[in-house]
Amino acid sequence: MGSKTPNLGYKLEEFISLVEVAGFEVAELVTQFAKTDTRFYLGAGKAREIAEKDFDVFIAYHGLTPLQIFNLEKLFKRRVIDRIYVILSIFEKRAGSLESKLQIELARLRYELPKVKEYLRRAKMGEQLGFMGAGEYAIDAYYRHIVKRISTIRKKLEDAKRGRVMHIAKRREAGIPEVVLTGYTSAGKTTLFNRLVNENKLVDGRPFATLETYSRALDLWGKKIVLTDTIGFIDDLPPLLIESFHSTLQEIIDADRILLVIDGSEPPEEIARKLETSIETLGEVGVDLEKIIPVVNKVDKIRLEDVKKLRGVLGRYFSWFVPVSALTGFGIEALKVVLFFQVPGYSIVRTSSDD
Ligand code: GDP
Repeated sequence: MGSKTPNLGYKLEEFISLVEVAGFEVAELVTQFAKTDTRFYLGAGKAREIAEKDFDVFIAYHGLTPLQIFNLEKLFKRRVIDRIYVILSIFEKRAGSLESKLQIELARLRYELPKVKEYLRRAKMGEQLGFMGAGEYAIDAYYRHIVKRISTIRKKLEDAKRGRVMHIAKRREAGIPEVVLTGYTSAGKTTLFNRLVNENKLVDGRPFATLETYSRALDLWGKKIVLTDTIGFIDDLPPLLIESFHSTLQEIIDADRILLVIDGSEPPEEIARKLETSIETLGEVGVDLEKIIPVVNKVDKIRLEDVKKLRGVLGRYFSWFVPVSALTGFGIEALKVVLFFQVPGYSIVRTSSDD
């Protein structure tokens, strides 16, 4: 992994956690503060040094140009990926709806296109191509496949949008409210989702048959809700990914309530920054902020002296919040009670065992 800016601090830590969420294991961290060579992103000497190391994939902290990817792959004879690729992989893993899946595939193809173009250009010049040593014919076929697929996806997206509107209308008709989980990466959304889902008896039945991978039906003392986990927020999103990200936010706009998961164990200034960005972004896409239920997670890790500061930070936006630890289970019962009362819809509570 490479980096060229000194003092990246928590940003680098966050990037490492993104890399891990994307499914990679960090073997070694390579930093470079000296002057770099634009052909290689790193200094040419450093790049040659890395080529001798034992690793499978080189991941750059920044976005790379197609030329840099080409040169590094040729030198390393291994795969070279960058920040955009890492975030794309996370989006791909976590996309729930058909629409966001298509949006992400579109972003992936638009990302691949200039790189494949660069390989094609080199192949046409008769250049020997590093480890991607496919012949000119194969690269050309792949290039044409991408172009065609991009136009197919654009058409499919139109249908998917219509499908989403119908899906929501159906769910509304069935009277099942939806609650979504959002927040920054690593806030603990997935852990909380699993905790809420596993502690609840799964509800089976027709209306849930069409649910996406990251949605589950919950039964809260007879009140049924659909809980959906979302990708959440990532700092410094590359422009290419903003469209896909916005499509994932669509899932939030339509929800009846939003659990905004906050990592309470981070420094208060960091919590304040992330909270501000989250609320701004949600407001920008048209989410009704009244629907937000703030959930402070990881309370098992909060230092006592930070509690007062934390209250101050959250107090700028909310008059209350639900403290939980998705890891230990602390506060989960209280959260369920909050959901029971906050989520609109009738409660169907059976008082006898017969129908
Ligand atoms: P997501 O990216 O928001 O879905 O976050 P994850 O659910 O993947 O959690 C990120 C990391 O935080 C994981 O290593 C979890 O084990 C950890 N984590 C989640 N909830 C808690 C918690 O309540 N307490 C502590 N100490 N760690 C937690």
